[in-house]
Amino acid sequence: MTVEVTTVTVFRDVRPFGGAARDLIAVNGVLAQSIPDGAAVDYVDGLGKAAAPTLVDAHIHPDKTAWGEPWYSRRTAHAIEELVAGDVELHRAQPPVADRALRLMSHAVTLGTRAMRAHVDVAPAYGLAGVEAVATARDTLSHAMDVQIVAFPQHGVDRTPGTAGLLEVAADSGLIDVIGGIDPAGFDHTPGGTGRDPRQLDIVFGIAERHGLPIDIHLHDTGGTGAATLTDIAQRTRAAGLQGRVTVSHAFAVAELSCHALDSTAELLAEADIALTTAALSATTVLPFRHLSQRGVRVGLGSDGVRDSWSPFGNADMLHRAWLLGWALDARLDADLEACYTLAADGGAAVMGLPRADLQPGSPADFMLLDGECVPQIVVDVPRRDTVVRAGRVVARDGLLL
Ligand SMILES: [Zn+2]
Repeated sequence: MTVEVTTVTVFRDVRPFGGAARDLIAVNGVLAQSIPDGAAVDYVDGLGKAAAPTLVDAHIHPDKTAWGEPWYSRRTAHAIEELVAGDVELHRAQPPVADRALRLMSHAVTLGTRAMRAHVDVAPAYGLAGVEAVATARDTLSHAMDVQIVAFPQHGVDRTPGTAGLLEVAADSGLIDVIGGIDPAGFDHTPGGTGRDPRQLDIVFGIAERHGLPIDIHLHDTGGTGAATLTDIAQRTRAAGLQGRVTVSHAFAVAELSCHALDSTAELLAEADIALTTAALSATTVLPFRHLSQRGVRVGLGSDGVRDSWSPFGNADMLHRAWLLGWALDARLDADLEACYTLAADGGAAVMGLPRADLQPGSPADFMLLDGECVPQIVVDVPRRDTVVRAGRVVARDGLLL
């Protein structure tokens, strides 16, 4: 006979969202109204710090990072082909992916990331080495963070022979959670081809259907090419019955829309229940997430690349990403800054199919303790994360993973 052990931790003297001080009670990883009768209790002194939900990085590339390595000087690159060649160069020049990915993912935990969707390159240049390395890091951090791995055909499926087979093997391996894609029309066509018949989508949707996997497609294409691809993806999503299981990342073609065109695209996405992710890369490419969510489109926020061959920027800090989002949107009102925090906390949870962490009884006991009077100030100040709590357990303190 097994005996159920009830684990109770009470975080004393904390201020949820910067409000009045009280206790947060975690019972078996979930917040509760009260301490169960007879349960043994551990106590953590919150020292009057603000408590805020930990965050979800809906789009990051931990396999590409040079985080923590000696400075890497980049060369000029414009087209995706040139950037991809830079990825391979960095990969060959740096220590193994397993070391770099674990370091970056651990760093993210200490900054209060409770979950991430990791896009990991799958290409003949690497085989499945990146997927295997990130999966190992995921196992190491399983007590602290949920990780979904996307098999990401960064080099293209149609233009890089051998990739389709590798995606199939990745799906068979059981290591991945999501099948990826990239610009099926604008980038991924046979050299010299037109991209009008995006074979990549046939392959990606085929694997998704055969293996029961969700899909997450990078779409940088703008204008007519981007819009036509979105329509194509929406039609395929409905035809395959994959509503609620398809994400389009970046979606710069949506960011450039306004008024009627934005409303009709939001309707197209909402009907197919296609989610979007944005990385707040600039004022012109950030998605109008409040407008979209009011129309039923789930939107998540992500880091994208972190100090990789594409860019020296990025730090896997989702609170800093919320700051960047507010900066890109010229947020000034408290409601606007709170919306940035909510996107970083809840947006990615909705994209990844995770329960919302909102400090209410019944929600995951996932939160961080930090200095701040209120959420708007926390977004602007980006204070140090003193304590990070995952499922009622302290997993990081003062920047150190426990
Ligand atoms: Zn990306």
